[in-house]
Amino acid sequence: MNTQQLKDDFAKQFGAGGRVHIIRAPGRVNLIGEHTDYNDGFVFPMAIEPQVFFVCRARTDGKVVAKSSLFPGAAVEMSLTGTITKGEPKWGNYVRGPVALLLEKGVPLVGMDVLIVNTLPMGGGLSSSAAMEVGTTRSMLALAGQEMDLSSLALLCQKAEHKYADVPCGIMDQTIVAGGKAGHAMLLDCRDNSKQFIPLNPNDLSVVIVNSMVKHELSGGEYAERRSQCEEGVRHFQKSNPSVKALRDIQIAQIEQAKSALSDVVYRRCRHVVTENTRCLRYAEDLKTQRYESAGKLMVQSHDSMRDDYEITVPELDYLVETAMNIKGVYGSRMTGGGFGGCTVSLVLPRSVDNFMAEIKKSYRGKYKIDPVAFATNATDGASVVE
Ligand code: ADP
Ligand code: MG
Repeated sequence: MNTQQLKDDFAKQFGAGGRVHIIRAPGRVNLIGEHTDYNDGFVFPMAIEPQVFFVCRARTDGKVVAKSSLFPGAAVEMSLTGTITKGEPKWGNYVRGPVALLLEKGVPLVGMDVLIVNTLPMGGGLSSSAAMEVGTTRSMLALAGQEMDLSSLALLCQKAEHKYADVPCGIMDQTIVAGGKAGHAMLLDCRDNSKQFIPLNPNDLSVVIVNSMVKHELSGGEYAERRSQCEEGVRHFQKSNPSVKALRDIQIAQIEQAKSALSDVVYRRCRHVVTENTRCLRYAEDLKTQRYESAGKLMVQSHDSMRDDYEITVPELDYLVETAMNIKGVYGSRMTGGGFGGCTVSLVLPRSVDNFMAEIKKSYRGKYKIDPVAFATNATDGASVVE
């Protein structure tokens, strides 16, 4: 998308003139480490090429007026001097939240007209929600000439998702969208937010995302239910060891020992989280040392664990993974994101990518009569000011 086009679109919506800024916020894909972030565990995401643009200009009347190309119709409006509450349209909450929390923090702000334009699918598990929050925050900061360190920015955006979108998410999405690094995936320790960037060699590997086009609703209760099942597991282990803070502190042998004391569901939820943490660390090590076959196997094990233990996959995603693993040049494949639909991510030999995408589309269309969207992506930088 070229910047002149974006500015022309902005002028059509808000009128010409003034200094117009463009901020971008990428989507993200998590290579491995699913539902581990809110258990103080490890995740391994990277920022991706599809992104959300915020074309914006300061206003002098203290109002924020937002329009989205995906929701033509009424703008979302709020005043920096009034109380900002969540409401309709729902997409506006992804703007209201960050603005309200910046005000609460006492950051001096100015009003803004903003046109939001994206190349990132919504609700597809590629974190358009975090891109909305991080992009809104970066835009407000840019217009006011303010700065914020990446960790505070991610925390503010996570809180916005909790309070304004009602999704009790962990810290992964906002951290990678705000702080990704081109050419690298980020091994993030969600306990202390420490990060290690691992290079992905594009001559060896391509990351391919396949969107099942099946939609999920994370505020549907499944996410909160998984969180509370993990907490139930933690409470059990705390009885004998009060220093246990999260499932991060538990080893697989302890899960097996506790099998008869836990309900079957809680046992399996805990088993997923604990084994997923181990897989995530091994995976990062495998990529560092170019053991791609081994990394690929871990992705499939991760998928199986999400299907059988965490129960967050759907048949369409299981089919995409199974099909991928029967195509030449594929190291590994798994569902990515919160679950109940969305995308798979696969590690593929670069020379096999075109064939992989053609085969998987054909097969999925044949089975489900749905055209999936498939694309290869490099790892990109986190959100930035384009101009
Ligand atoms: P995901 O983060 O996986 O894409 P979520 O359900 O967490 O899915 O967030 C999707 C929501 O974010 C959408 O329903 C919409 O409210 C909001 N959103 C995302 N992109 C845009 C956009 N370009 N314009 C307006 N709202 C958006
Ligand atoms: Mg989201």
